[in-house]
Amino acid sequence: RAKAQGRNRHYVFDDDLRDHLAMRRDIERDLANAMTNDALEVWFQPILSEGGRKLTDLEALVRWNHPRHGWISPTDLVTVASFSGLAEPLFRYILRDVCTMMQTLRAMDLTHLRIAMNISPREISQIAVDNLIITKLRKLDLPPSMLEIEITEDTAKDIRAVQDKLTALAKAGVRIAVDDFGVGYSSMSSLRQLHVDRIKIDGSFVRGIAGSADDRNVVQSIITLGKSLGIEVVAEGVETEASRNILRQLGCLIMQGHYFAKPMPHRETIEWINQSRSFVR
Ligand code: C2E
Ligand code: MG
Ligand code: MG
Ligand code: MG
Repeated sequence: RAKAQGRNRHYVFDDDLRDHLAMRRDIERDLANAMTNDALEVWFQPILSEGGRKLTDLEALVRWNHPRHGWISPTDLVTVASFSGLAEPLFRYILRDVCTMMQTLRAMDLTHLRIAMNISPREISQIAVDNLIITKLRKLDLPPSMLEIEITEDTAKDIRAVQDKLTALAKAGVRIAVDDFGVGYSSMSSLRQLHVDRIKIDGSFVRGIAGSADDRNVVQSIITLGKSLGIEVVAEGVETEASRNILRQLGCLIMQGHYFAKPMPHRETIEWINQSRSFVR
């Protein structure tokens, strides 16, 4: 982008950088308070199996509406936290809300549903995520099978750094998914070694599936890979009926996206579940 601005690029770049730094400073400064004041939220997005007919998981997605900067992108939020010594408090905050949802589901007799929680590469290397998760679940007497963690392909790339933590979680009964699959690098052996139960095809391939043979081919080959490794495959970013139909034809029956449901706050999620009883078997 800076390059396209030609000779003005320095001004543009400096402006961008200044904005960025000012915003980052604000976020750093306000994040700790926001957590203390319960101003962050965790929203949930349904993941469905059987071609969209059955609810199986809810993905937890953090949300922060900053008083001046508006909605902060979750990836920026997690990144800033990890540079500000706030990675662990943020992780604990999200884990707490994730467990609250699990408790709600248990009270509704829906312990067959899972919550999928994202963990960034930095979080997994900086924080004792395995201990924090296992201890918390034990304390609340929640079944580890109700939790799935989503790591990215970049995490899966550096196996040695994460293997012990992921093995501990897998042994405890927590499921492991590799998110944004297809945009990073992970090897087939890493999928095995890291006890991966599920791969999630990045939405960038899924969105174009109806119009692009290339995208369709990528998706098809990930589905084939999953089948041959015995790993479940999820398509994310399913926005249209056409995409859903093609995915069904290709044999990818687990899906997530705006076509089915957008991420929702805790209360709306429960309302959605109550109104979608035919999905919740
Ligand atoms: P992700 O884990 O791949 O999450 C999927 C993202 O796609 C979410 O964006 C979701 O709102 C969005 N999405 C879902 N369906 C559709 C669709 O049909 N169309 C489109 N265009 N988008 C769709 P979100 O919530 O902004 O999160 C972005 C990324 O931030 C996530 O990508 C994840 O990597 C990260 N993230 C979110 N919450 C957390 C968190 O609690 N902890 C960590 N470590 N990372 C998080
Ligand atoms: Mg995810
Ligand atoms: Mg993803
Ligand atoms: Mg993504």
